[in-house]
Amino acid sequence: MGTISDEIKRAMEKHELCAYYQPQYDAMTDRLVSAEALVRWIRPDGRVASPAEFVPELEKTREILDLDWYMAEEACQTLKELGDRALPIAVNFSRWHVTEEDFSDRLSVLLKKYEVPSDLFEVEITESALVMEEAGILEWVKNVQNVRIRVALDDFGSGLSSLQFLKDIPIDILKIDRSLLSENCEPEKERIVLESIFYFANRLNLDTIAEGVETKEQLGFLRTCNCKKIQGFLFAKPMPKEDFVALCRSDRRKQTTDRDILEIQTPAHAMKLLMDAVFQRYPMIIYANLTRNSYYMMAYDNFTTKTCPATGDFDELIRGGAASMHPDDREEFTLTFGRQKLLNAHQAGEKMVRLVSRQIGDDGIYRRIETTDIFVKSPSSDDVLVIILCRDMDE
Ligand code: C2E
Ligand code: MG
Ligand code: MG
Repeated sequence: MGTISDEIKRAMEKHELCAYYQPQYDAMTDRLVSAEALVRWIRPDGRVASPAEFVPELEKTREILDLDWYMAEEACQTLKELGDRALPIAVNFSRWHVTEEDFSDRLSVLLKKYEVPSDLFEVEITESALVMEEAGILEWVKNVQNVRIRVALDDFGSGLSSLQFLKDIPIDILKIDRSLLSENCEPEKERIVLESIFYFANRLNLDTIAEGVETKEQLGFLRTCNCKKIQGFLFAKPMPKEDFVALCRSDRRKQTTDRDILEIQTPAHAMKLLMDAVFQRYPMIIYANLTRNSYYMMAYDNFTTKTCPATGDFDELIRGGAASMHPDDREEFTLTFGRQKLLNAHQAGEKMVRLVSRQIGDDGIYRRIETTDIFVKSPSSDDVLVIILCRDMDE
């Protein structure tokens, strides 16, 4: 008996290692949308060894590199075989790849060899890699993205996560670790933590996948968080390639969903649609805390001026706004929307304040802008909050 790494080398040569595929489903429609490749060792006696039996040992050294490349090639072969039925497949790469200088080039060459479009291949890297390979990880992720391959951060929340990294690293997909999910998602603190993770992931426009979903309760809760994809035994276990290929070829994902429409109209989903609808009418929406003199842009697109900072000091926002108004409208604008004026209006019981004023755009043209400030109540403090809706009346 040699060491594990010798055995694995031999197993690769004899093709005893193979990829199992675990399907990933769209959380809202239940449709099969992608999959993750997971290594299995089919021993000569037919026993299927799980990665826990050899991956951690190989990961202690660079020995894991060959196994991951082997799996990447398996995934490419499967994608090629699937042809027009192919769905994106994610492959796990250990942290050691961060130190492989030609990683992204090598990946490109591999994809070309099998004629696999880059949007069908995803790279997964665990959050522990972020910590251990801090120096090179940012550049590495960017290089992978430069060859148009998406990067997923695996096992997020398993213990080593640093929000600092999330801020800096331009990952595309966040995979939420199953350790964050209890069987029924009952504990309130757990739900608050998960809601917050999905809130910021959605705000950062990250694709989200919940891993290890086993119960209907978990699924129901994840849907209200606007989690995008589900991977877990509730839907499907990792399966041999032949089964996965058959699943992709079956009609299942072509069928339109016949679920009761109310079931997929979860609060978070409905909220997003509502935001989209409101945003169509008001291209600029600002959330402001008058008590704390702060604001941030909830939406800001195709508006007359594109130079307004996304967040900052409310007084400054109003000064900047007034400066962009027609000289004849400036005073009225300031008298209406100055912070103290708004606080007074709120104190006097006003529900909203509205004004139409002429604002100059980046193109030098004045437009009539309607600004509506609606006072809203904070659920957690007595701060005076306002939602500001702006629209171009000449549109
Ligand atoms: P991972 O990348 O986080 O993969 C997800 C693991 O969760 C898989 O375990 C999968 O079978 C398991 N899982 C999925 N849904 C459920 C569920 O509902 N309940 C439970 N209890 N488990 C679920 P698996 O296949 O044993 O893989 C374990 C780990 O081994 C993977 O975790 C990954 O870190 C590593 N691994 C697997 N294949 C490779 C590979 O090719 N290269 C590298 N470097 N690591 C690999
Ligand atoms: Mg993974
Ligand atoms: Mg994981």
